Amino acid sequence: MENKRINVIRSSMPSFEEYVEAIRPLWETRWLTNMGKNHEELSRRLEEYLKVPNISLFTNGHMALELCLQAMGLKGEVITTPYTFASTTHAIVRNGLKPVFCDIEPRNYTIDVSKIEDLITPDTCAIVPVHVYGSLCDVEAIEDIAKRHNLKVIYDAAHAFGVEYKGKGVGTFGDASMYSFHATKVYHTIEGGAIATADDDLVTKLWRLKDFGIKDEEVIDSIGANAKMNEFCAIMGLKNLEIIDEEIAKRKIIFDRYVENLSEMLGIRYLQQQEDVKPNYAYFPIVVEEQMFGATRQKIKDKLEKYNIHVRKYFYPLTSDMDCYKGQFGSDKTPIAKWTADRALTLPMYGSLELDDVDRICEIIYSCKKSSTF
Ligand SMILES: *Cc1c(COP(=O)(O)O)cnc(C)c1O
Repeated sequence: MENKRINVIRSSMPSFEEYVEAIRPLWETRWLTNMGKNHEELSRRLEEYLKVPNISLFTNGHMALELCLQAMGLKGEVITTPYTFASTTHAIVRNGLKPVFCDIEPRNYTIDVSKIEDLITPDTCAIVPVHVYGSLCDVEAIEDIAKRHNLKVIYDAAHAFGVEYKGKGVGTFGDASMYSFHATKVYHTIEGGAIATADDDLVTKLWRLKDFGIKDEEVIDSIGANAKMNEFCAIMGLKNLEIIDEEIAKRKIIFDRYVENLSEMLGIRYLQQQEDVKPNYAYFPIVVEEQMFGATRQKIKDKLEKYNIHVRKYFYPLTSDMDCYKGQFGSDKTPIAKWTADRALTLPMYGSLELDDVDRICEIIYSCKKSSTF
């Protein structure tokens, strides 16, 4: 039995020599953080790559989202989905806002736009939809609803680096979009994140909020935090930008191999290609319909672990069911999100994953069926 450890992700990196060469000038300049030269260069390069009008860099995606909501001066209720990472809901709550959970649609796991308007009250100020797994939300319907009800739209695009819709960068939709550049994401700066927006006033506010609210040496005009990306991270970002297309191309081959293996397995659902969307193959989530498949998610997870293959229940539990929110929201109003959270399993997905391992993972999954003698 093969025993090398396979995790759900493996960070892509430039070669050691290349990174070291790139950080060498920092020993001369001693400009290590506080919006240095590499911070500036990475912002401009990312605007080009992501096809967005402005990129504001942050120390991580969470602080980018939290400070963006603060910068907009929002008050009241925010419509969002519970089928996401803790960060999305926490950013809302930590701003003193009340999350109102909308159900997801069963194909892409993004917000079900047909259910948004029923949740709008006089207190609603914004919608925070999530391009979960890199799946595109119905951006056109969301824009239409937001316009009619005068709501801000801030996308959690943490998973959607490089995703495009009809040739436009995913970050051009809504009032702002948050990207995460965490080490576990398709593209990373070790830790990092960004807000994409076309709103110059918001850009100025974000610049100050990530730097304690400092306007100039003697004027501090907002209650900011410290969320500046440092130069070492910016340089990792510049280097990773050189290899991101290759990383995504490799992931496509792995994605296709999974599909080839799993398409015959009744009861295993996987993400379908969306029309007019350029995908980034960020994750390979499956949803296990235990009756049809003949085994539960837990059985599959346990068996993979025996072979040293470590998969994750992304996204379980729903944020609305997390201990810190116990008794406040519950998941009965979002039945599809709950059903999905109880059955989802995210399989290993990264550029350097070998196709033989993809085949092996799928064989182990198949072997979990009751009828199998494997
Ligand atoms: C990773 C992630 C975040 C937070 O990003 P960090 O860079 O880790 O702070 C927010 N939302 C979602 C959906 C994520 O997956």
